[in-house]
Formats: sequence, C-alpha cells, structure tokens
Amino acid sequence: MSNQIAVGIDLGGTNIVTALITDDGAVVGMASRRTDAQRGAENVVSEMAESVRQLIEKHSVPINDVVGLGIGAPGPLRLREGMIHRSANLPGWQDVPIRQWLQEKSELPVQLENDANAAAYAEHWVGAGKGAGDLVTLTLGTGIGAGSIIDGEILRGHFQNAAEFGHTIVELDGRPCTCGQRGCLEQYASPGNIAKYAIEQIRKGSKSSLGPVLKANGAFDSQAIAEAALAGDSLADTIWDEACRYIALACVNIQHTVNPEILVLAGGMSKSGDFLLGRVRQHFAAQSWKIFDDAPRIVLSELGGNAGVIGAAGLAWKAHHNGTASINFASGVRSAE
Ligand SMILES: [Zn+2]
Repeated sequence: MSNQIAVGIDLGGTNIVTALITDDGAVVGMASRRTDAQRGAENVVSEMAESVRQLIEKHSVPINDVVGLGIGAPGPLRLREGMIHRSANLPGWQDVPIRQWLQEKSELPVQLENDANAAAYAEHWVGAGKGAGDLVTLTLGTGIGAGSIIDGEILRGHFQNAAEFGHTIVELDGRPCTCGQRGCLEQYASPGNIAKYAIEQIRKGSKSSLGPVLKANGAFDSQAIAEAALAGDSLADTIWDEACRYIALACVNIQHTVNPEILVLAGGMSKSGDFLLGRVRQHFAAQSWKIFDDAPRIVLSELGGNAGVIGAAGLAWKAHHNGTASINFASGVRSAE
C-alpha cells in the first residue's frame, strides 16, 4: 500500500505539469512540457499521456501501484461529461472529451476538475487550510480563479460552475470583461489587469517611477507595482491599494455567501506576501460587518504554483478511497486496484 501513487496533471495554456503524489500529498516527481494547443486537443492529450508514462518510468513505479490520475484544466468544463467546454487559454478547443481520451491513452481512471477547484482542494488537503472543512481560494493570476470547499467537498452548483468569484460584479456598468459582463472583480484586482491599468495611467501622463521601466521594457507586472509602492511611489501605491480594496470586497461577499473558515490568497500577486495580506486584511476589517464575528481567516497559499497539480492528484486519491475510480471503456468497466 505504501508504494501507491497518484498522478496529477495541471493543464495550462503554456505548460502541462505532471506530478507523482503520495497519499499524504508529498511530491515524488514532477515534469513539465510546453502545451502546444495549436496542434489540436487530441495531440495535446497524447502528449499528456506520454508525459505520465515517462514520469512513471523515470521513478520506476509499477503501473499497478498507480491508483489513478487527476487533471486540473481551465474552464468552463462540462464536468459530468468529462469535457473541456472551451477555454480562453486553449484556442480552438470546443467540447473536448478529455477524460475519456486520457483514460484510453493512459489506461488509468481519470478525474477531471476545474484547475481553480483543484487548487482549492489542495489547500484544504495539505496546504494553508489543512484540516479546515470550509475554505475558499482566490487565485490572483492572469485572471482571478476561485474554488470553494464546503464540508470537505468542492462546491459545484447545478451547472457545475460555482465559485466563479473572479466574475462576480463589483462595479455596476464597470470595465468590460473578457467574459462578456462588465465590472467583474478580475478587471479591478487581477495582476494582469492592474498592470494594464497602471501602464494606461502612465501613458496618459501620470508621474511614476515605473515610467522609465515602461519606456525601457515596454511593460511591467504587478510585482513591479508592489515594489514601486513599497519604495514610496504614489501612483503604484494608489493602484495596489485599490486592488487590495476590491479583493477585500470580494472577501466580504464570500464571507456572507460561503462563510468559510479560511480564505486563501494564491497566484502571482500572493508573491508580494505581507504587502498583499496586510492591505487586504486592513480593508476587510474596514468593510466587513460588525454585528457577528464570522470573519474568515485570510491567509497566503502554502502550495504556490503547485497547488493545481497537487489538488488534481488529491482528487484521484479521493476517488480511489471512495471506490469511485473506474474506467469506462466501450468493452466494459475496469476498477483501479
Ligand atoms: Zn468577467
């Protein structure tokens, strides 16, 4: 039993990360290769299966010791059908039956999950919210991904697409979002968008120490904004603080809808550590209600960029323990031993 292992895959628009994960969440081995999404979904799935095969071989794991495979993929997904419906990060993909294809190519039971949900599951399983049954993760990446764990289970909702907190509207008739709505949280608080906003302000003539950086490099990221703000740059501080206010607003709304014990901040912006956490906590305290003490503990991710791949494997372990890990071939069903 102790030699058993689960495979996690984090399918991103840029990279496919594959990892071997033990039953207590330890990473035994990890590999990464580029996602060549333009070559089509079936080729990418073959690459994924090949990456799994190579990693298992490299670590001399007998195939019978592999309890299953979990994949975290960008959504929206059709989870019941095991499909990627479409994805901004995987251009041209439409209703790709990734679970079935990967089962056939890997001959392993496959669990498909939204990547943000997989990351939330990992933080609940072995990360910043270990032991907490009720947890929400906000992944402040290119956009804002979110996952919600309630009583140890991923919150899905009727359409299997719950917890899209990045697309909760924080400004009526606000900035247009890539999703078709206006005023989405991720337009005001994701690292990519605050960098875009700062660049716009500088191009319009706002004075900032980031001006010369923009001139030299043509761009900068949210980390540069945090550093400039810490160094006393007034424009950078205003923009960073505003983003933290919007994140705090989202945290208050999550407090009242999901009522989690822990709220994990993850993704690129969380690399700024206490400068993010301190501001968000401060604005949360100012905005949150005063009539009942049910504020979540707001913390930073402990798993960083590995949360997705660890969580995906964690879901393969969960299915294995629950006895729901099986492969449906045209010829019949095989349960993983
Ligand atoms: Zn949106």
